[in-house]
Amino acid sequence: MGKQLYAVIGLGRFGTSVAERLYDAGQEVMGIDINEERVQDAEMVVTHAVVADTTEEEALMSIGIRNFDAVIVAIGNDMQSSILTVLLLKELGVKKVIAKALSKNHGLLLDKIGADWIIYPERDMGERVAHQLLSPNVLNFIELSKEYNIEEIRIPLSMTEKSLRELDVRAKYNLSVIAIVSDGEIIVSPSPEQIIHKGDMLVVIGNREDLTVFSNLK
Ligand code: ADP
Repeated sequence: MGKQLYAVIGLGRFGTSVAERLYDAGQEVMGIDINEERVQDAEMVVTHAVVADTTEEEALMSIGIRNFDAVIVAIGNDMQSSILTVLLLKELGVKKVIAKALSKNHGLLLDKIGADWIIYPERDMGERVAHQLLSPNVLNFIELSKEYNIEEIRIPLSMTEKSLRELDVRAKYNLSVIAIVSDGEIIVSPSPEQIIHKGDMLVVIGNREDLTVFSNLK
């Protein structure tokens, strides 16, 4: 991916962490906050940091907000400011607006006014923690839909030193192995003859219930 231009509005914990990660990945990142202290604190981790009230159209215009590839609205508790900011961004024609919602109603409103992607950091993180507690062998997962996940699962001892063909995960557990992570190396589309060693992880795709059964094998 080439260099993209991002703006992060609201330099609290969430916004700063998004901005810092993007900047570390070599992207152009402008950090924006109404609070001067927050802007100063963020200066080291973004390309530019500016003080602005993003509920004011002129402020957004003078930043040239339309030129950004994506704008992340990370304003937290001040729901009114978050909504107004997103509304203005969409009115000004920003293509991709990503907004953080603190509650379901906040999220519904953001959706109504045209936010392109709504994030619920606390709800999602809570779900992840619960998921990880319920399935300790699952190291990572991606939710594809309500029913399907991709999960990175630590292989149970009883299944080690066998080939994928012998394990026959597809027939026995209704799951497809898309990769193996072995010693930090990733083997994509592994062959049926591939031997699974102790400590390896399988990246599998399938129904959540089937994944739960598989990740709880001993
Ligand atoms: P977190 O929970 O991620 O730390 P906060 O609610 O503490 O989030 O941070 C939100 C940030 O958004 C604050 O730094 C606040 O100053 C900023 N903010 C709030 N309203 C505006 C606004 N109208 N324009 C720009 N920044 C704003």
